Amino acid sequence: MQVFGLLGNPVEHSLSPPMHEAAYEALGLDARYVTFEPDRDAAAAAVESAETLGIAGLNVTIPFKRDVLDAVEPDGVARRVGAVNTIDFSATPPTGHNTDVAGVERSFTHHGVALEDRDAVVVGAGGAGRAVAFALADAGASVHVANRTVERAESLAADVPGATAGGLDTLDRVADADVLVNATSVGMEPDDGVTPVDAEYLHGDLAVLDAVYAPIETRLLREAAAEGATTIDGAWMLLFQGVEAFERWTGRDAPVEAMNEALRAEL
Ligand code: NAP
Repeated sequence: MQVFGLLGNPVEHSLSPPMHEAAYEALGLDARYVTFEPDRDAAAAAVESAETLGIAGLNVTIPFKRDVLDAVEPDGVARRVGAVNTIDFSATPPTGHNTDVAGVERSFTHHGVALEDRDAVVVGAGGAGRAVAFALADAGASVHVANRTVERAESLAADVPGATAGGLDTLDRVADADVLVNATSVGMEPDDGVTPVDAEYLHGDLAVLDAVYAPIETRLLREAAAEGATTIDGAWMLLFQGVEAFERWTGRDAPVEAMNEALRAEL
């Protein structure tokens, strides 16, 4: 039996176990997905222990995505983003990847949204914002990062080719943009009555991805849909980062439908 898992703290409410277990069941794989919650300062030790125990792959979540960088051999994407969310133990030393980046790109592709040469606005410059900004830029979009703390937006934009940065007062750019991603926690339960982007800037030619997945339908997505925009909820991003991790670990095409159903049943 192969063992995969999730390293985080806390991991109690993670949606990854049912999503990955659904994939094993759909393909008849002899595998299990378990959660590990080490102390905050024990990320590197946990990776070492996982390797010793023969664990095949680990996802990594808050607060360890940066901490594990030194415990693995990060690939180019993980190195540039500065965060690892997937570890593959099939190599020595284990390799570190950031499937959040591919998860963003695949969310747009799945919805028929092309990113090349498009103008994109990313709200937020935290962990999710970094992955989103790199994903959009790598897919050929020109990226503007707007963040409450302007210095954080500037620091992210300095790392992303061609990106610009500003405060939340630059969100009027959404009116002329093709793509908008909310990578802030604004709109998340229980404060789901608020939105990160004023509805006056939303329009029908926009594709909007909201990284928030609780609730599934945020106020931002509701207001964007009302304008005729293409809307993509945060569960797609969560799904496709898991799909990417599964495919990397197993070398097989992921049963996307089964994983999506399991994820949405939990949400
Ligand atoms: P984070 O690193 O803590 O960053 C939080 C971001 O939200 C920062 O840009 C912060 O701005 C901004 N923010 C927080 N409160 C705000 C407010 N009241 N007004 C304006 N901006 C505010 O968190 P994260 O890990 O990036 O996660 C952000 C969101 O993405 C969360 O809702 C998380 O659940 C979601 N997420 C989804 C996925 C997925 O797969 N769907 C993956 C990762 C994260 P400052 O820099 O000014 O503080």
